[in-house]
Amino acid sequence: MTITRLELDQILPLTCSRSGICCHGKQVYLNPYEIHCFAVAKKLTPSAFLDQYGEQGGIKLKFNGSTSWRGMAACSQYVEGFGCSVHAGRPLACRLYPLGRQIEHEKAYYIFEGTQFPCLDGCPEVEQLPKLTVADYLQGQKTEPFIYAQDTYLEVVQALADIAFMLLLETGLAESTEHKTVALWRAMSHETPDDLAQRIGEEWLEKLLLPNIENASENAADFIQQHSILLQEAIQKQCDTLQNLDQIQELCVLVLAMALYLARSLGADTKQLADHWINTAIQNGAKA
Ligand code: SF4
Repeated sequence: MTITRLELDQILPLTCSRSGICCHGKQVYLNPYEIHCFAVAKKLTPSAFLDQYGEQGGIKLKFNGSTSWRGMAACSQYVEGFGCSVHAGRPLACRLYPLGRQIEHEKAYYIFEGTQFPCLDGCPEVEQLPKLTVADYLQGQKTEPFIYAQDTYLEVVQALADIAFMLLLETGLAESTEHKTVALWRAMSHETPDDLAQRIGEEWLEKLLLPNIENASENAADFIQQHSILLQEAIQKQCDTLQNLDQIQELCVLVLAMALYLARSLGADTKQLADHWINTAIQNGAKA
């Protein structure tokens, strides 16, 4: 697939025609901050929101509405003739669309897929509407806290992987011939989000997606900082109970599964991430 990279001052037909076609047939993944914002906008608890509208363990928004455009199902939040029912809480993917965001060598680029501007296919009328720069579009869509959340949760992913590394490399687990932890990491890299969610189990999935933060703020920095502390405390508590290599391996695999699952919610390439982690573990003495 050809990717067109954009400059922030590039002018494009980015004013929405509000036809709603981009709310059909898409795959929208949600990180924990986005689940929180959705739930606030929907006036539901995050858990009730996921029960009704989440799939693949909760990180994917259901698209089970009417098939009113080109036979593709509408998003569960789309209301015919009205549009998005949770506009204020919509996630980054929806705020960016038709743009995407790609990070390369720690620099973010705004892109669209293909060589023709995507809206022109379903909404050629956008050509008649006022044009915007990419920067103005991003600002108008209030993307800043959501971009912050996306980038900061990627750091949480790496922090989880670091804990898994510590459990593997600093406990004697890596030297054990009986405990083929890296092989389990490799197997997980091929698992679907549903498989990973099942492996993680309800209790830890809740800690990962639905942090129990009292009066949770809509400020992304506060929310993620508190979530991160709660996650670390829960893992530390579990570490304090470990008594043998079996239990260490169980926790090591669980924490890496959580890292992979959270990465999936951010749209990261989990196969590439897992390969990188596996190679690093092997270089540091873990058995393949
Ligand atoms: S969340 Fe709202 S904007 Fe995003 S796809 Fe669903 S209906 Fe459309």
